[in-house]
Amino acid sequence: MRHKINRRAFLHVLAALSASTIGRKALGASAPDKRVSSWSGKIKGLGESGNVYEELGLTTVINGQGTMTYLGGSLMRPEAEAVMKLASLHFVNINDLEAAAGKRIAEMLKLPQGYSALVTSGAASAIQNGYSGILTGSNETYIKQIPDLTGLKSEVIIQKAHRSPWNHQIRATGVKIVEVETVADVHSAISERTAAMHFLNLADPDGQIKREEWLKLAHAANLPAFIDAAADTPPKSHLSDYANMGFDLISFSGGKAMRGPQCTGLLIGRQPMISNALLNMSPNEDTLGRPTKVGKEEIVGMVKTLEIYLAEDEQVLAKEQWRQLDTIANKVSKIAGVTVTRHVPEIANNFPTIQIHLDPSKFSIDAGQVNRELANMKPSIVLGGGGHGGAGSIGITAIVLQPGEDRVIADALSKVLRQHQV
Ligand SMILES: *Cc1c(COP(=O)(O)O)cnc(C)c1O
Repeated sequence: MRHKINRRAFLHVLAALSASTIGRKALGASAPDKRVSSWSGKIKGLGESGNVYEELGLTTVINGQGTMTYLGGSLMRPEAEAVMKLASLHFVNINDLEAAAGKRIAEMLKLPQGYSALVTSGAASAIQNGYSGILTGSNETYIKQIPDLTGLKSEVIIQKAHRSPWNHQIRATGVKIVEVETVADVHSAISERTAAMHFLNLADPDGQIKREEWLKLAHAANLPAFIDAAADTPPKSHLSDYANMGFDLISFSGGKAMRGPQCTGLLIGRQPMISNALLNMSPNEDTLGRPTKVGKEEIVGMVKTLEIYLAEDEQVLAKEQWRQLDTIANKVSKIAGVTVTRHVPEIANNFPTIQIHLDPSKFSIDAGQVNRELANMKPSIVLGGGGHGGAGSIGITAIVLQPGEDRVIADALSKVLRQHQV
């Protein structure tokens, strides 16, 4: 019966999407759930001290760099954590849960008619599973066959300036990436082998072909257009902007500025492509995306996170971040040879950022060495570098700074700078 799994999953997804199963109410009034439990005992062993990382021999990080995956992304809101705990108390059919979550997300984001969403294990996973779905459709044989593309389309077109580490997830499906630079290049690159056209949203200013034109070129050739907008919230409007524009599939990270569970992402797009992406991933067996598992807790946690995130006032959050960054800027700019610039990146990581520039004639160390000294402290202070301000500067964001950490950074940074004044 193994060969039936994908078909069955597909039918599940379709049934759930038809809303007939989602809207169904349990018989009788729903009583408060007796399973709700919160741990009230005393933790013994790991967790005893309250800091699991120190118990494991690690140094925790004061993160002034941003929503970096290598540092753990972001910190979840306690309310979303509490809802994830509720999700952990029951078993549920995961394909049905994905369909129900997608429906709720589409409603919350007011996605255009015919669009839905899928909670994935990250934006990278949204990319891989989205492309798998584009290639295989709902065909069971193809779903089992990829990354062997015999009989399938085999190329994805990308502008040279849009190449990114996450192209690996496209190549994982077996496709070859075809690089282009000009509109003429696109026309000659399109063939019967072309599966889709990929756009990296943050690279919009860098490529010759802009977002709208890229979309038009794809649709004129009857090809799906995928846009990777992983780090491009805030603003929250971006969650629906690219669907409204007509992009067929859009990827976002859940665990960056939205502060969802670290191992979540969103694939937003046209309904059949969303279902086909799900057919290519966990919980469905014998699929390329089987290792990209997303748990019931994360799926529910992502939906809850969106609910909270959409209700937040972005202006208020940005103002608080500027206040924290000003604490740092005001302190270090008093040191001779330090200049501070402020900016908000245009597309990705669109939140308050300061850049600290050091006059090389006034200091015996450069920005990179300053960052290394801070990182070696306990707790470790991790700041960014380069970025908009040029290679020799220190970049700081407050997107994941906790209350009071602005002071800690301000003090530590000015101490290190003063120690190395010449
Ligand atoms: C972070 C990022 C990804 C990967 O996202 P995950 O949610 O960590 O899988 C993909 N594309 C871009 C542009 C990103 O910034």
